[in-house]
Amino acid sequence: PQVPAVDLQIQQRMSKVKHKVAVISGKGGVGKSFVSSNLAMALAAQGKSVGLVDVDFHGPSAPKMLGVRGQALVADENGIVPVQGPFGVKVVSIDFLLPKDDTPVVWRGAIKHTAIKQFLGDVNWGELDYLIVDMPPGTGDEALSVAQLVPNITGFVVVTIPSEVSTLAVRRSITFARTVNVKILGVIENMSYFMCPTDGSTHYIFGENKGRRMAEEMGVQLLGQIPIDPEISAANDVGEPFFSKHPTSSTSKVFLSIAEGL
Ligand code: ADP
Repeated sequence: PQVPAVDLQIQQRMSKVKHKVAVISGKGGVGKSFVSSNLAMALAAQGKSVGLVDVDFHGPSAPKMLGVRGQALVADENGIVPVQGPFGVKVVSIDFLLPKDDTPVVWRGAIKHTAIKQFLGDVNWGELDYLIVDMPPGTGDEALSVAQLVPNITGFVVVTIPSEVSTLAVRRSITFARTVNVKILGVIENMSYFMCPTDGSTHYIFGENKGRRMAEEMGVQLLGQIPIDPEISAANDVGEPFFSKHPTSSTSKVFLSIAEGL
């Protein structure tokens, strides 16, 4: 059978990438981009060569969380050159191609499919230990495209907060992953708890250990728990990469331990 040239190109590019890990979530706003970006930095800090491809076209926030917003993608004879992020993480995002902050991406599934093809096949990723795919929330077009287009995808990492609405949506994502035959590498529970800076008491804002329980019930591993922390949202808001700004924080240690096991 005839294989389209672009798919051959994806095959070629992706054959040089050892692990392809897509970070998914049931819902938006649970910290998927924060987790993708900081996991990428943690892997790179451990000496791995890492790329991050942002296919969250409608809400591309990984560049800001990696501190590389406002940079531009260029191309040379070997393809599109990724932007260099902290620890040498190679970053590609639609955000680098949008003219203004308030430019929306109004695309149907077919166009997003084509864009994902280009991000995988036209970018000169080179040899990578890990390619982290920051997915949009949910189980829509992009998730299907990634499952279909990435050859030998290593698996999905699922981000949730411990609320019922988020864990319910994650159950759907896990079932989706099983439907498309992609392995679930595990669940990361974000915003697990808040530790009061004045008296050190722990508060379970969205409920205690609901992510852990959901993971157990669905038969998937809980990879780590990350607190709700004003330092995290502050770093993300100003576009400073949290992991490199607070390398010895307990949260960065959680990312390092997840990265080690990946
Ligand atoms: P998603 O990619 O799931 O839509 P984001 O990564 O964009 O979510 O995070 C949503 C918002 O929550 C951002 O403003 C981010 O800075 C903030 N955030 C994420 N994780 C935490 C956390 N653990 N503590 C505090 N704020 C967080």
